[in-house]
Amino acid sequence: MPTAWARRANNNLRKIPYNLVEPEHPVLHRPAGRVVSFGMEELDVIAHRLFLTCKMNGGVAIAAPQVGIPLQIVVVDEGDHGVVFCNPVVETGGKLVAGTESCLSLPGRLFRVPRHHRAVVAGQDINGEPFGADVSGFNARKWQHEASHLAGRLLSDDFPEVLLPNGPQTKGFAG
Ligand SMILES: [Zn+2]
Repeated sequence: MPTAWARRANNNLRKIPYNLVEPEHPVLHRPAGRVVSFGMEELDVIAHRLFLTCKMNGGVAIAAPQVGIPLQIVVVDEGDHGVVFCNPVVETGGKLVAGTESCLSLPGRLFRVPRHHRAVVAGQDINGEPFGADVSGFNARKWQHEASHLAGRLLSDDFPEVLLPNGPQTKGFAG
């Protein structure tokens, strides 16, 4: 059990966003490791800080490698709260849908990215209990983007960039 002091320290830490790592950081370019320990306060602190980081940077979801943590953790922004997925495995289906995406890890850049219409996510919650989602459309796009982060891929590895006459912009999806 954490001491009262540690609990206070962790409560304060929860309110501090992380810094996003630079696009060249190796953690963004190799597969993330599985979360094997659950129910620890540290995991809860990481989840809170990820959610805050996502919010502050205008993202719709965030993966732990984007802040330098080499673990399979994704937090999805659900408005007033975040939903935490550990070790998510994403299966895709349905037709490919054209679209554009930006990435918190590639600020100011936009990419043309076809994604499957449907995604079925199977993972664990913050306590290690089986947890999943069956989503389509925008949410399916979101999950395919995050799954790539956990696999160590960035949009710039796999998709063409949209070059706009007015210069860099980040409108639309960012995760
Ligand atoms: Zn991203």
